Parts: sequence; structure tokens; C-alpha cells
Amino acid sequence: MSDVTVTNPLQRLIDELKKLPGVGPRSAERIAFHLLKTDAVDALALAEAVRDIKEKIRPCARCHNLAEGELCHICADHRRDQGQIVVVEQPKDLASLEATGLITGVYHVLMGHIAPLEGIEPGDLTIDTLVKRVKAGDVREVILATNPTLEGDATALHITSLLSDTGVKITRPARGLAPGGQIEYANRSMLEEALRARQEV
Ligand SMILES: [Zn+2]
Repeated sequence: MSDVTVTNPLQRLIDELKKLPGVGPRSAERIAFHLLKTDAVDALALAEAVRDIKEKIRPCARCHNLAEGELCHICADHRRDQGQIVVVEQPKDLASLEATGLITGVYHVLMGHIAPLEGIEPGDLTIDTLVKRVKAGDVREVILATNPTLEGDATALHITSLLSDTGVKITRPARGLAPGGQIEYANRSMLEEALRARQEV
């Protein structure tokens, strides 16, 4: 890339847009030209929204969900059952489960799954803090709602072995989801069924 290209603001925007998931070179160009001719107010609102999520949203100090303060809105809600922890891979999985309205407990977001081939080891996830939470408090049940994929299953198995000496009930949602399916794409009734029929592991 020449210096001229790098310093060209339009090219810079196109290059940044191309890094977004699902945005190819043509879409990146189309979006960039759209923003170029858009009202300054609207275009800058997008820029500010991007800045805001980086400056104002941070991981919840307890569960690693997205939070605007020290704790996320779920951990900060005293009506939630602290004795039930639902373990998920990503904040978007949490959102899908939360939408069922069936979870009265709290969550723990792992921020991924164990995948040695991709270089993701247990230490890269938030498993340590999960184990500390379970050992520290009055936890009755840990629901391992990782995705029903090879990596999700392996992650659940690893956590089960770490928590086996705690005496806490460990469950896994039933296989209502298609094998290899993802929680974020499951519909509400599938999730409800999988949660209701969860089994002890
Ligand atoms: Zn939280």
C-alpha cells in the first residue's frame, strides 16, 4: 500500500470497513461512499456510537457480561437468584437465553470456548473467575449452556471436572438444539425446551 493510499481518508474508511464481519471490498466501498454523501450529523452519529461502545461498555466485574458500570444490569439486580449460574460462551448467547424469560439466576460469560487448534486454551477464558465464584458463594446449580458443538462440549467437560469437588449441581441443557447448533440462532421454544429438560452431568 502506498503512502498516498494510507493517507487518503476515504481509502482509510474503506480499509476499516473491510475488516468488519460480512463486509467485502464492494460493500465497504458502497458504505464508505454512502457515508461520504450522508448528512454530517448522521455520519458522525455512527462515529460517536462506535466510540461510545469502546469507551462506555466494559466487562461486568462479576460475570463478564457487557456492562455500563462496575456490574451488568443482571448482576446488579438483587431479585436475581445468585444461587444459579448459567455459563455461556458469549454475551449474545446470554441475550438469547435471557429472552426466554426462564432464567431467574445469574450468568457467567466465558468469552469463548476451548479450542486448542485455534490456540484458545482454558487460561484464555474466564474459567478461573467462574470457579472462584462457585467456590466462594452459595451456589446451588451451575447450568453449562455452552454451544452444543465439539468446542462447547469440551469446554463444558473441562469446567465440570474443575467443579466436581464442590458438590454443586452441574447441569447441561438438553439436546433440543441440533448438534453443532448455536444458542444465538436457536429459537425461543427450542431454548425453553432445552433448559426445561436440562440434565445433571
Ligand atoms: Zn454481570
